[in-house]
Amino acid sequence: MPSPRYWREVPSRLRLEAARCSGCGKVNYPARPICPKCHSKESEKLTLSKTAKIITSTVIHIAPDDFLFEAPYAIAIVETPEGARFMSQVVDCDPSSVGPGMDVSLEFRLIRKEARSGILCYGFKAVPTNSWEAQK
Ligand SMILES: [Zn+2]
Repeated sequence: MPSPRYWREVPSRLRLEAARCSGCGKVNYPARPICPKCHSKESEKLTLSKTAKIITSTVIHIAPDDFLFEAPYAIAIVETPEGARFMSQVVDCDPSSVGPGMDVSLEFRLIRKEARSGILCYGFKAVPTNSWEAQK
């Protein structure tokens, strides 16, 4: 992720800011100036809950350079109660135990360090909740 993109995405990455489309009600995360579903330009800002459910997941064994030492790790498409879906790394658990339907909390963590600039990039990672452990 190049630095300009990181800075542009600060509101969504650091504050979980999304936009609810005034035309169709779709929650777009990160917020976009034009709704990809109905093309409306009207929306209201909202902050997503720090809880989500895993829709689908996979385990990364061959990681890109910046995540080399974290492999194997799980990534998932998660959905918040507001209906926003996005990809997140799933941490603090055995990657092979991650699966659809799992409840997670979204916790603020260090995502990566840019190799050349050394900029520390923060954001949210998914952590399985205790309620999931209780379901096993
Ligand atoms: Zn829309």
